[in-house]
Order: sequence, then structure tokens, then C-alpha cells
Amino acid sequence: MKCPKCCLSKSKVVDSRINAPKRPKMGWQYWVKKASKSFDWYTPDWRARRRVCKDEGCGHRFMTIEITVDDLTDALTDAAQNGFNET
Ligand SMILES: [Zn+2]
Repeated sequence: MKCPKCCLSKSKVVDSRINAPKRPKMGWQYWVKKASKSFDWYTPDWRARRRVCKDEGCGHRFMTIEITVDDLTDALTDAAQNGFNET
């Protein structure tokens, strides 16, 4: 995946997690908790990946969430019909 900041260099995965910790600390675990808010409302079946740009001058860190196409399609259809569940 290309870096969204410099749009030139590829990124590498530096960590990968499935579940959010119950008591997240600042840093990576905090971001997993944030990721869980993005998709846990629909399914617990997602994986968060912490990525870093391979370009040393850039070094941008960002995170992606991986879910199945079926889950994404169903979730977006559900959200379009019923709105997002914000509980
Ligand atoms: Zn970059």
C-alpha cells in the first residue's frame, strides 16, 4: 500500500492486531481501540494493521483496517438504510 502522505513510497506493516485491549495505553494500543470503534459496531471480524512509510525522509505512520468484502458491503448497506449505530 502506498503512503497516503508522500504518495510515492510503499509502506510496510509493522504490527497487526485483531482485538482491542480492554485497557488501551497510549500509542499503538490506543489506535487499535480507535480502529475498533470504526467497525466493531458491525462485526468483530476485522484486523488492524499499523503501517510505516518505507521512505526514511517521510516515515509517515498510519493504520488500516482489513475486513472481508462481504462484511463491508453488508455494513454499508445496513448503514445506508438504518444509519450508523453509535452505541
Ligand atoms: Zn511517505
